[in-house]
Amino acid sequence: MDHATDATGATDADVADVLERVAGGAQYIDGRPRAGGGAPHAVVDPATGRTVWSYATAGPADVDAAVAAAKAALPGWAATAPAERSAVLHRLSAALDATAGELARAETLQCGKPIRLSSGFDVPGTVDNTAFFAGAARHLEGKAAGEYSPDHTSYVRREPVGVVGSIAPWNYPLQMAGWKILPAVAAGNTIVLKPSELTPLTALLFARAATEAGLPDGVLNIVTGTGPVAGEHLVTHPDVAMTSFTGSTAVGTRIAALAAGTVKRLHLELGGKAPFVVFDDADLEASVHGAVAAALINSGQDCTAATRAYVQRPLYDAFVAGVADLMATVRLGDPADPATDLGPLTSFAHRDRVAAVVERARAYATVVTGGSAPGDKLAAGAYYRPTLLTGAPQESEAVQREIFGPVLTVLPFDGDEQGLAYANDTPYGLAASAWTRDVYRAGRAAREITAGCVWINDHIPIVSEMPHGGAKRSGFGKDMSSYSFEEYTQVKHVMSDNTGVARKDWHRTVFG
Ligand code: NAD
Repeated sequence: MDHATDATGATDADVADVLERVAGGAQYIDGRPRAGGGAPHAVVDPATGRTVWSYATAGPADVDAAVAAAKAALPGWAATAPAERSAVLHRLSAALDATAGELARAETLQCGKPIRLSSGFDVPGTVDNTAFFAGAARHLEGKAAGEYSPDHTSYVRREPVGVVGSIAPWNYPLQMAGWKILPAVAAGNTIVLKPSELTPLTALLFARAATEAGLPDGVLNIVTGTGPVAGEHLVTHPDVAMTSFTGSTAVGTRIAALAAGTVKRLHLELGGKAPFVVFDDADLEASVHGAVAAALINSGQDCTAATRAYVQRPLYDAFVAGVADLMATVRLGDPADPATDLGPLTSFAHRDRVAAVVERARAYATVVTGGSAPGDKLAAGAYYRPTLLTGAPQESEAVQREIFGPVLTVLPFDGDEQGLAYANDTPYGLAASAWTRDVYRAGRAAREITAGCVWINDHIPIVSEMPHGGAKRSGFGKDMSSYSFEEYTQVKHVMSDNTGVARKDWHRTVFG
């Protein structure tokens, strides 16, 4: 049963506020907004289907201008004292916090995610990340310094990589912008970020806030455009030293091939298909709640969402019944309403892709609950009901392919061996969880599941201090944490002669 609220979407006042802040265009280059030279595009409120903003996308000339601005700003920003970069980011963190309500409304408007999630997760997460990288900016030390040859002293410099070109997806537009921008600028790089053409609003608000916080013009530039036009131009641009991408595995594969032409440093955060392994000694109630929350967060449009639950046979029936009951209580409705648990998907095209996977699954699986779009007042939005599938074979599309919607498959397993083998049996390796009261089982799962993150008795929480990133076809490279910060630096070894002697012993090994 759904408890739908009126699907009114954001109010006109909310929309007007946000649009006033992004007036001037969807490009933000050299500290100023401007209109793009590319084709028109629209931001659509997926709760209602109405167009909230029409804008001109970035063409190749806009990308060139943004890269040129970033290149010009690089020497000055790279030479800025870490304490100064840190101060700018501290001011930015405070400014984002001060405008948290507006950011949350804009995020909900363009993505359809419930306002409770935008204001309780997306915005505070970005404020905290900004504060974290403000601190990290002051820790650029190299790991090794010493005299490893009797005649020389060595030390390591950590230098900026250069102009970074980043490309972000539409599922967490503000957080993804932060994950890309913050470590890059903290380490002294300059950046051109291409947000998803579907959801540019909060990246544009972020850029304005950064300028107001004192970030010099040209350090952060936003080009809003499509992947094939703006994205590919950025990836192949000869003045861009590094490509940092978050998005699907298919696009990441293409980007890797394109970036090879100019030998760019690559950072790829790609798709996921996270397993959720429940052993027979697990706390059943906790695992049921955990599975429903982790499968439905952001309507399942989360690369680490729980998508495949494997439940040891003794708990299987109770787990399926518990998940079905809990899913039925989820309030699907207007994302602007604080009582809403689940909003629409971010686009109609994506909702239709999710629905098509479930329709095909009917041939080989049982749809226990969900499996359709809601009618009535929600029919105008890109909604899809929370969906539980059982009986889908391990090798089936629903189990193997990233659906990126509110769809959970549940399968039983027997021995621990089999549960862990199922967990590892997809091309992805981004995240996973194991549910057990047995510390040895938990340790084994943590060791044996190939993934960038394994949660024990939980699934989804992240912290700024810890790395996020994948293995296998989920990509490589880390976001957040000091690991991410290091990826945006170049390690240089400096080796200095201590003797002042022209003819050294080692010279004789070369010319006698
Ligand atoms: P997508 O790959 O379709 O698009 C991501 C970005 O790439 C967008 O900005 C898009 O415009 C751009 N793009 C598309 N084609 C391009 C091309 N040929 N060249 C350059 N850029 C191009 O992904 P999406 O649908 O926006 O997002 C969903 C995907 O993102 C899912 O697969 C999800 O798992 C993944 N994701 C991964 C992480 C992670 O940390 N691993 C986090 C969030 C989302």
